[in-house]
Amino acid sequence: MNFKNTLEFAQQLDAQDSLRSYQNEFIFPQVNNQKVIYFTGNSLGLQPKRTKTYVDEVMNDWANLAVEGHFYADKPWWDYHERFAAPLSKIVGALSSEVTVMNTLTVNLHLLMVSFYRPTAKRYKIICEEKAFPSDQYMFQSQVQFHAQNSGINPNDAIVEIKRREGEHNIRLEDIISKINEVGEELALVLIGGVNYYTGQVFDIKTITAAGHRVGAKVGWDLAHAAGNIKLELHDWEVDFAAWCSYKYMNSGPGNASGCFVHQKHHNDSTLSRFAGWWGHNKERRFKMEPQFDPVHGADGWQISNLPILSLAPYLASVHLFDEVGMEALIAKRDHITSYLEFILHEIDKEVESTFEIITPSNPEERASQLSVFLHGEGRSLFDYLMKNGVITDWREPNVIRLAPVPLYTSYEDMYRFGQILKQGILQK
Ligand SMILES: *Cc1c(COP(=O)(O)O)cnc(C)c1O
Repeated sequence: MNFKNTLEFAQQLDAQDSLRSYQNEFIFPQVNNQKVIYFTGNSLGLQPKRTKTYVDEVMNDWANLAVEGHFYADKPWWDYHERFAAPLSKIVGALSSEVTVMNTLTVNLHLLMVSFYRPTAKRYKIICEEKAFPSDQYMFQSQVQFHAQNSGINPNDAIVEIKRREGEHNIRLEDIISKINEVGEELALVLIGGVNYYTGQVFDIKTITAAGHRVGAKVGWDLAHAAGNIKLELHDWEVDFAAWCSYKYMNSGPGNASGCFVHQKHHNDSTLSRFAGWWGHNKERRFKMEPQFDPVHGADGWQISNLPILSLAPYLASVHLFDEVGMEALIAKRDHITSYLEFILHEIDKEVESTFEIITPSNPEERASQLSVFLHGEGRSLFDYLMKNGVITDWREPNVIRLAPVPLYTSYEDMYRFGQILKQGILQK
């Protein structure tokens, strides 16, 4: 399609947008009495209007039923989490027994590493991406330290980072595969972010997972920026485990519960180590308070505590919304609106003879909702100007703004208006 950088053209695209009505399902903050142009759904998604109903339901059941709510609420609390299995498994391409919700993202990755990172003197290395999200880096370091104290592995060369080539912003698939082959028999685990949080690069999860398995390693994924954003086929791709937060593209609210995936092939493996608690115990016998742990088959067997229902309620609202829309429609609009934003950025760049650079891959196969823009000349003052004028973006050192048009609630007109504000911001310097 030939795009145009005009208001009329943007409005025409909005008129053709099948997801357009969903913009009204969300609450937008206001700046200067106007709803903001929100580009940070990759950091904290907007609040869906329906969320309050789900939370109120739990508050009312608690008020009216108190402890009886565990069994007699409309959505009883003791198995509240089971309502996620069907819709969430569609979002991540899994069997319903392979997904569950619990805890928060980094906590879940730690717990899954208890099962899937079992280093030995010979096979102990972890492959991750260079400049992984800091929480993941701290997690790897602390896991390696923990095992070094207990099993004598060498912590100093256990973490192997895949580097970008000199002068390049993204990591090449071929470099990941050759690193996996090079580490070979020493490789215990590959754990990478499915979509890089900084550049928005989408990794080829299927190919990387297969490469890890060929050398005998386990392969897990941090899907913080992938869940609700890209097409996932975790079951078919034979991913061993994965976890994601729900507050980014899935709009479940600040710091909210995480989802996780454990492949079916591991469900009957009684030799896997795990940290157990009563919510992972055989649900028919959970309240018999027996001493012997008997894990639920499936991802639910990794649960530990009874669940924070008040935080699951917004996540359930979100999962139902996603189920209604479907990933196919989201992805179609995602690609179209991201391409339109890319076009607008290039147009403005020409008009102001600026020198910003999009560091996200230009190949639509290797990106999703996010474009990361490296500001060679402008920088922090431009970011502040955008914020003051109702454009909410995200600033990352040294000089990058991240822009995520979210298909559920971002309009094409937003893209056009953003371009005009950006241009003013650059020219007024
Ligand atoms: C957002 C994000 C996290 C956040 O972890 P929490 O445990 O939810 O605080 C972790 N990893 C990646 C890659 C992220 O993008």
